[in-house]
Amino acid sequence: MTTTPDPRHLQVDLGERSYTILIGPGQLGTRTPLADWLPGRQALVVTNDTIAPLYLQPVLDALSGLQVEAITLPDGEAHKTVASCERVWTRLLELRFDRSCTVIALGGGVIGDLAGFAAAAYQRGVAFVQIPTTLLAQVDSSVGGKTGVNHPLGKNMIGAFHQPRGVIADTDVLASLPAREMSAGVAEVIKYGLIRDADFFAWLEDNIDALLAREPEALAYAIERSCANKADVVAADEREQGVRATLNLGHTFGHAIETATGYSTWLHGEAVGAGMAMAAHLAEAMDWLSATDRARVEALIQRAGLPLAPPRSMTSEQFLQLMAVDKKAQGGHIRLVLQQGIGHAVVTDAVPDDRLRATLNHYTD
Ligand code: NAD
Ligand code: MG
Repeated sequence: MTTTPDPRHLQVDLGERSYTILIGPGQLGTRTPLADWLPGRQALVVTNDTIAPLYLQPVLDALSGLQVEAITLPDGEAHKTVASCERVWTRLLELRFDRSCTVIALGGGVIGDLAGFAAAAYQRGVAFVQIPTTLLAQVDSSVGGKTGVNHPLGKNMIGAFHQPRGVIADTDVLASLPAREMSAGVAEVIKYGLIRDADFFAWLEDNIDALLAREPEALAYAIERSCANKADVVAADEREQGVRATLNLGHTFGHAIETATGYSTWLHGEAVGAGMAMAAHLAEAMDWLSATDRARVEALIQRAGLPLAPPRSMTSEQFLQLMAVDKKAQGGHIRLVLQQGIGHAVVTDAVPDDRLRATLNHYTD
């Protein structure tokens, strides 16, 4: 008989909304604590048509004896819509699920955000559990309580804060994740090292290959440390009034890249990789980051399989235009998150326009 090793437990401290993240291999099919997190006997698993054939059955089995149903949506960011939420709500109503029911997200960040919002709004809010299946979802979108869907006029524009009852991050499920998606998740992992955890950054320099090879120990450590960092930031600033914005390192440049490329060719994490390299260039120009440390940042981003620069076709003007409409821009200044050394970042609007332009010119024609 094989036994499942004990998972790592990480507590996210948010007062009465506190919850546990379980991290480790072999967690998907285990009944405890999943069943204990459900306030009632009814649960709806929300997943997509890529993940369902791989991982739905073990989750259903884990809850056998309860009234557990599933809804399988089409895969893709294009389906992160109010229309998909409506399908979830319709299913919940057809099933006559009451306010004690639970919505369980089984999938990447798209499913997590969508199912979380569906749970936040159904009968003014029902219980929610996350079973994230991408690295990005395990280290980022499943922590912090932001849920939502896209609107034709803007990404993530319709949503709510809704914390889960618990999160199960099974490292085994990452075995089937495409390499590009893996690297995209690692971008956010590197980000935590850069903004607030120099020791973790050094650990990543030593263990990036093990991580990309999906060695269970390396994965569990990196996921735990990433979630701990995000949880600390979120606990300090649940509603993003201050320090939570440092989580956007590389994202203002990255969003410009994603927008310019029509959210089609670049994955979010790839854009964040290039964005963090651009932010490091600017930080060095500000004398906030040494040339040696910038080289370390670039080396790690590259070894993670991520791009170090935006598409050559982009222009400085395009960047300035797209960055100015980014929701982080306030009061006329472009607000940026920049490194001050490795392991520390600040939110600043003190970057002179010509410094920013010089960095943009370095990366564009
Ligand atoms: P995703 O959910 O689209 O998943 C990426 C792809 O991998 C999909 O095709 C998916 O079906 C597939 N997949 C998922 N798990 C798999 C597995 N184990 N094996 C094989 N294939 C698998 O993308 P994502 O990167 O996980 O999440 C991106 C979304 O997360 C975006 O919508 C973004 O806005 C959101 N997000 C939210 C937050 C937050 O705080 N709520 C933070 C970051 C990102
Ligand atoms: Mg991100």
